[in-house]
Amino acid sequence: MDIERVRKELQASALREFPNPERVGCPDPAVLDAMSRRTIEITQSQLHHITHCSPCFQTFLSIREEIQKKRAVRLRIAAAACAAVIVVGAIIYTVADRLKSPAQVAVLATPATLDLRPLSEYRGTDSGRATEAKPALILPRKNLRLTLYFPVGADEGQYTLQLLDGQLHTLLKQQLTATLQNHVVTASADLDLRSLTPGAHTLAIQRIGDEWRLYSVELQ
Ligand SMILES: [Zn+2]
Repeated sequence: MDIERVRKELQASALREFPNPERVGCPDPAVLDAMSRRTIEITQSQLHHITHCSPCFQTFLSIREEIQKKRAVRLRIAAAACAAVIVVGAIIYTVADRLKSPAQVAVLATPATLDLRPLSEYRGTDSGRATEAKPALILPRKNLRLTLYFPVGADEGQYTLQLLDGQLHTLLKQQLTATLQNHVVTASADLDLRSLTPGAHTLAIQRIGDEWRLYSVELQ
């Protein structure tokens, strides 16, 4: 016989056996309420009355039940709030991580070098085609931090760099500042080539006021 059945049976008999319709010796409802909510100490005689007066015991049990239900609701709300905090935290973490990513990509741009010094070039005024310039330069289709070594005889100063497709449409254009570094005229450019198609392209470099120098570039 389990203890829960004994408890239920005692509870049922206490609710049944002591009708007390005259409410003899019953505590004030406010006091009974306070006892049920355990906001006051229950004396031995009060405990005896509650367990020997069916209406008082009924009230006592109802209030206890109500308190337990509210507590269960509060626990569920607290659990839901905890879950919400975890979800919001996860979202914030994910968003923050994504926001962080572009900066990291910029910092982690792939370094690449184009050495134009040993290459043949053809001038923009020539009638030749880009494919005649050899050998072809090769660039990976990545977010590049490009270092350019200019051909011998090139001057320092402001340059315009363009990347052209096979039909010589401009895909990228930016300004460069070329300076003498270790006896070589050098410039840096940030080129994001990730969205471009692979294949033959043309790199065009022009010092402001000068003519274009064109180089074949293979995007891989
Ligand atoms: Zn009573």
